[in-house]
Amino acid sequence: MRKKLIAGNWKMHGSRVANEILVRSLLAEPALEPSVELVVLVPAPYLAQMQQLLGDSACAWGGQDVSDQERGAFTGEVAASMLREFGCRYTVVGHSERRQRHGETDVQVAAKAQQALSQDLIPILCLGESLEQREAGKTAQVMRHQLGVLLDVLGEAGMVRSVLAYEPVWAIGTGRSATPAQVQEVHAWLRQQCAEVSPGLAENIQILYGGSVKGANAVELMALPDVDGALVGGASLVAQEFLAIARAA
Ligand code: 13P
Repeated sequence: MRKKLIAGNWKMHGSRVANEILVRSLLAEPALEPSVELVVLVPAPYLAQMQQLLGDSACAWGGQDVSDQERGAFTGEVAASMLREFGCRYTVVGHSERRQRHGETDVQVAAKAQQALSQDLIPILCLGESLEQREAGKTAQVMRHQLGVLLDVLGEAGMVRSVLAYEPVWAIGTGRSATPAQVQEVHAWLRQQCAEVSPGLAENIQILYGGSVKGANAVELMALPDVDGALVGGASLVAQEFLAIARAA
């Protein structure tokens, strides 16, 4: 049985004071199902704060990006070893906002995932099509390429230690979630692609959905057979919304 993972991607939001209020509200929640894991993915400057606030809790924390290099003259980048040093368990890799704004390619995304894995971090590998690509009927083609590079570079050994996140770009921050049927179709397809590598990988890999997930649509989305959790943006900044999603999982 795959566990559910509810991941809150705070993006570039937060302050020391606001973070503490949010995290304390999450910790005040009486036990969630043991089969549900929570993780907050925070801006790098707040990792130490998360280590301090969440260190003794069941809630994990992680980064939103990681360098594709181990160390060196790479101004502004954060190495996987640094995320590890601050207790991260996860890091997001290849979020569409980074692909779009920073021109990250599928090959770079795979290299970032390799760095994460080299430090025993679990990369949350984001993929998804734009509206233009969906409307042109290119969803499968785009995803095949994004996933194909990951499978080639990471291989089965790397993929079994990773999480996949399907985030259709057109559903991110728009309030317009993909429909349950659309989500299930893509997730089942992703799992099928993994099955071609190995049935064990397909059986075990967690595939999260992200894109306008909130308390109100979480029950329906989390009940889908190939959805193993959510990657939540805006709603993860509101404790009660985030917890409602976790309860739905
Ligand atoms: P929203 O939940 O705000 O649509 O963001 C989704 C996302 O990009 C999570 O990584």
